[in-house]
Amino acid sequence: MSGSDEPARAEAPQAPMFGKIAILGVGLIGSSLALACRRHGLAGRLAGYARSAGSREVVERLRLTDSVHGDPAEAVADADLVVLCVPVGANAAVAEAIAPALKPGAIVSDVGSVKQAVIRDVGPALPEGVHFVPGHPIAGTEHSGPGAGFADLFEERYCVLTPPPGTDAAAVERVAELWRRCGARVETMEAAHHDKVLAMTSHLPHLISYTIVGTAFDLAESERGEVVKFAAGGFRDFTRIAGSDPVMWRDIFLNNREAVLEILQRFGEDLSRLQRAIRWGEGEALEDLFQRTREIRRGVIQLGQAGTFDAREAKKDEGED
Ligand code: NAP
Repeated sequence: MSGSDEPARAEAPQAPMFGKIAILGVGLIGSSLALACRRHGLAGRLAGYARSAGSREVVERLRLTDSVHGDPAEAVADADLVVLCVPVGANAAVAEAIAPALKPGAIVSDVGSVKQAVIRDVGPALPEGVHFVPGHPIAGTEHSGPGAGFADLFEERYCVLTPPPGTDAAAVERVAELWRRCGARVETMEAAHHDKVLAMTSHLPHLISYTIVGTAFDLAESERGEVVKFAAGGFRDFTRIAGSDPVMWRDIFLNNREAVLEILQRFGEDLSRLQRAIRWGEGEALEDLFQRTREIRRGVIQLGQAGTFDAREAKKDEGED
């Protein structure tokens, strides 16, 4: 891992960083990036590609981009920077569709939550003279779609770039600078390392959440009602995570299979140890672990990565995004 930077605090400079930026897939991340680019004056022109007519209508209504297209090749024409913001499993088809329309010298980046698969799928599809700089802003919510984005999403969050060996250094720096201007802290690392780390910090917690909420829902009808009604802190947090986009998460697990299975194996072993401690009344072992995890939580807070939690929520939340 190398190159940790503080987020840039300065406001937009006079000239935009890129003449034209094309955002392909204007969902939560794509719309947030569009809004951040607008706020910080990063693009002379913003083009968006949205697959469905419904999403294109929202993009237009919210004026997220200057133009919105149903054909990704149309959106990337003359673009200096193209950012793929579709689910990981959709990257290959989108990359193939845009390849003939890319401007020579253009930079293609992405925001996918898995990096080795994106490099495997996108890299070979791109023509000579186009620079590919894979990236992953580690920021998000459980909401999805073009109406879910907000310009602050990347503020103080990490953005990891995983340029394959030999990637043009100037192109990497331009993408890094874009994210810094969006408020993010940029780090670079190898794609394989990224996928391992994220399997632990993001993919496993999501898998556990999907499992817990699924198990609770499979309880007998009467108990299920109680589970929802009395959803206290712990379970409520799991339901929030388990409400994340099903297609996006399907693609993450299918494309980071090895790392997720490896971490799941370790997790299973640790869970068995806890099960045993409970069975044999080994309170000290339980307390030791809980002390250690409390320290870890403090470390997360000290790094400014704990996020905020507001227990007073509006009921209307459902189905708005
Ligand atoms: P999202 O809100 O569901 O948006 C996905 C976008 O991709 C939508 O505009 C959707 O179009 C489009 N799309 C879906 N399937 C497609 C396909 N087969 N072909 C073309 N377009 C397709 O998802 P998101 O949260 O922004 O995630 C986008 C990417 O960011 C993913 O790669 C994800 O791994 C990564 N990411 C997500 C988070 C997070 O927390 N959400 C954080 C960091 C990175 P329609 O609206 O027209 O269906």
